Amino acid sequence: MQQLTSYLSGAWLAGEGDGATLYDPTTEAPVARASTQGLDFGAALTHARDVGGPNLRALTFAQRGELLAAMSKAIHGQRERLLDIGRINCGNTRGDAKFDVDGATGTLMFYAGLAKSLGDRKLMLDGDAIPIGRGGRVGGQHVRVPRPGVAIHINAFNFPAWGLAEKAACELLAGVPVVSKPATATAWMTQEIVRIVIEAGILPEGVLSLVCGRAGDLLDHVTWGDAIAFTGSADTGLRIRSHPAVLRAGVPVNIEADSLNATVLVPDADDDTYDAFIRAMHTEITQKAGQKCTATRRIMVPRDQIDDVVEDLGERIGRTIVGDPGAEGVRMGPLATADQLSSAREGIGRLLEQTKVVHGSVEGGELVGVESGRGYFVSPLLLQADDPHRADVVHDLEVFGPVSTLLPYDGTAADAAALVRRGQGSLVTSIYGDDRKYLGEAIAALAGWNGRIVVTDGKIADKALPPGMVMPQMLHGGPGRAGGGEELGGTRGMGLYQQRCAVQGNGPLLAKLLDA
Ligand code: NAP
Repeated sequence: MQQLTSYLSGAWLAGEGDGATLYDPTTEAPVARASTQGLDFGAALTHARDVGGPNLRALTFAQRGELLAAMSKAIHGQRERLLDIGRINCGNTRGDAKFDVDGATGTLMFYAGLAKSLGDRKLMLDGDAIPIGRGGRVGGQHVRVPRPGVAIHINAFNFPAWGLAEKAACELLAGVPVVSKPATATAWMTQEIVRIVIEAGILPEGVLSLVCGRAGDLLDHVTWGDAIAFTGSADTGLRIRSHPAVLRAGVPVNIEADSLNATVLVPDADDDTYDAFIRAMHTEITQKAGQKCTATRRIMVPRDQIDDVVEDLGERIGRTIVGDPGAEGVRMGPLATADQLSSAREGIGRLLEQTKVVHGSVEGGELVGVESGRGYFVSPLLLQADDPHRADVVHDLEVFGPVSTLLPYDGTAADAAALVRRGQGSLVTSIYGDDRKYLGEAIAALAGWNGRIVVTDGKIADKALPPGMVMPQMLHGGPGRAGGGEELGGTRGMGLYQQRCAVQGNGPLLAKLLDA
């Protein structure tokens, strides 16, 4: 079995001992091991700060963008191998693995394009020059420059390719070296991507490092000038945010955590809008076996349409073949780990205290190409809460699997919004409808509770992307329970890694010095 290694201080290093075991979630066979025992994270962070930082800060935005484009091409060049790893270690169907890997290369390419527009400069102007006082000579300009430390990723298991790329794209373009720690259970994919990039000789020394295995004492070594980007559960997020070294050094932490995302069907939606809604809900439940932070967990449907939705969505879900992600025709694979399976089963049990099953079976359905009793499988499950305002668990518990709950509501924007808000801050709420007054009211009522709102009406129904798809040009993150973070969104996502500085003085001189 292969031993995964970390890339630290410019060398591939194996930790002591066996470390953690990674599995194939379809067969439960062990596929790799990863240990960080005994690795010197303090020295690795210092190397990234002292060698990678200056190397990157010497480059212009346009030059950093060239690095991102080269990374994207090198990774894409080994796409088939990466899709295979997604199947073997993450239980991904080909479509699910493409979502992760192509999402990674696409995001890097998007930021490479953005870099061109930022041009041959090293600092970013933040807004226009500001006149100060009388006479017009004294003025000021806000600028954004790279933080002088290192960007530390701590990522979740479900997007080992995209999770690395979406963070690294913003950090490298901002001019900050990266130390990335993927979740151990699916770290093989991330290790392979880092290996591809390092072997291609694309990046200057010290710019990209990898921790493959447990975090150990990594966070004890953070210092001012660093930034942390975390994706994972709220509990781990809290531990990281309140780590003594993080608090002491005032290190900013971006948290992308759990979310009870919602979708609202508006009464009297056009047929095209309704069809787009059914298609998207099917995708949200089954894509990556529901292991997406942005997946819809709560579906608000006007009470008089609930039976139609159960029938139409149930029929579509029923056509989804579940099993070995490499087998012909299979559209949904297993959950990624044994822990995820037991946590999803426990969560479904808790949801069932306040809901009923309207499609699927808790015992699971037929599996294609899977040895009996093997694999971390959960069948797609559609639940319904008849009294949605009292169904506390539905608004409070994220089951990270192919499970969503229908919530009948009275058909008003106010009732739908009251239910959505029970999620206490979400990554995304999507709304399918054609009633403009309703749509306007819903956006106004929900924007403060969401990082993103996706509105689909009949005019864009045939082009609409599923709401769970995160695009680099739009913000990803959400308030409250979702962690309060912001990633991507073009240059917005670079903000965490930049120091904003207000420069005041002789206005015309500053314009020259800052090349404004
Ligand atoms: P997790 O258990 O919180 O782990 C996330 C990461 O934190 C892993 O890399 C883990 O490393 C690391 N970690 C755990 N304890 C740590 C500590 N004390 N110090 C430093 N690092 C530590 O979450 P998960 O099970 O991987 O992911 C599932 C959750 O992530 C779900 O709740 C989902 O909603 C959320 N998620 C959110 C988003 C988003 O963008 N908002 C995206 C994806 C997932 P090890 O693997 O080595 O333990």
